[in-house]
Amino acid sequence: MNGKGHGSKALAAVGMLAAALWSGSGARADTVPVMVIHGGAGVIKADMSIERQQIVKAALGRALQAGYAVLKAGQPAKDAVVAAIQVLEDDPNFNAGKGAVFTHDGHNEMDAAIMDGATLQAGAVAGVSHVRNPITLARAVMEQSKHVLLIGAGAEAFAQSQKIPLVDPSYFWTQHRWDQLQKALKEDAAHTQHADETTDRHFGTVGAVALDHAGHLAAGTSTGGMTDKLWGRVGDSPLIGAGTYANAGCAMSGTGWGEFYIRTVAAHEICMRVTAMHETLNHAAQDVINREIPALGGDGGAILVDAQGNIAMPFNTSGMYRAWVGRDGVSHVEIFGNGKT
Ligand code: ASP
Repeated sequence: MNGKGHGSKALAAVGMLAAALWSGSGARADTVPVMVIHGGAGVIKADMSIERQQIVKAALGRALQAGYAVLKAGQPAKDAVVAAIQVLEDDPNFNAGKGAVFTHDGHNEMDAAIMDGATLQAGAVAGVSHVRNPITLARAVMEQSKHVLLIGAGAEAFAQSQKIPLVDPSYFWTQHRWDQLQKALKEDAAHTQHADETTDRHFGTVGAVALDHAGHLAAGTSTGGMTDKLWGRVGDSPLIGAGTYANAGCAMSGTGWGEFYIRTVAAHEICMRVTAMHETLNHAAQDVINREIPALGGDGGAILVDAQGNIAMPFNTSGMYRAWVGRDGVSHVEIFGNGKT
């Protein structure tokens, strides 16, 4: 190799080092990691039994630690997001992977997405019925394909080509979700209001956002969508910018009535306000999630983190399953409380 080649190699190495030390957001390589996860906003009964609260909180705690351990080990935010979401997908208490809600026809059709804020790379899948961990497939779409969003049978053919575990659809069946569908079908027949205040019929999606040691952000979301959904309906979760988005300064995963997150392009809207208009994370998040979306008739919540490690967790439902480790390194798990401050 000639001298010029060596010189450009050396320059590239310096550039990579500089990029590693200083991200575009101005964060340093010794950034204190932050991890936030959700297990869905929803109409969660305020009188949820203590026992059930404990089960869900323990599951959230396990997922949080799975993701945070990855960050502590110095690995990228996208790895932490996948690690946390896989735990929640494998847990039947959440509407993602095992425990996904049923479509009107009694099937499970799942959606997932991941976005790497450092590179603006993204991958997503929609309407998959045999993929044990849809977030793993979304990541493969991001890293191993030239596309961003794959659907249905094509997405599953890609999964096979990537040796990503496929399962029989019966794997996703749970009594709890089946009962929810039967209740929804009865309500359909009686033409009653879909959003029944006593069930968590609509929500339960899972998601994660993370800030890693290098100061990079990532976001991911995985869901079975909404109970009783019709005609190949796809929600906001796998749509980059609607339910999932990350850039150099902001990462968000949403949960709620997806149609409203799509119409407000919620995740991109909030992150643009933060990074381009310099609004605080909490102000932008509160305004979109708790003002714009309810003004249209929607509801839900979101988790967000910015490049400085600030966290926002707005929601306008009676609860949102959530857990986080902030800059202070302390773990928290919550279900209820005020999502409007
Ligand atoms: N946002 C998801 C969807 O509309 C549902 C949820 O968050 O539970 O598909």
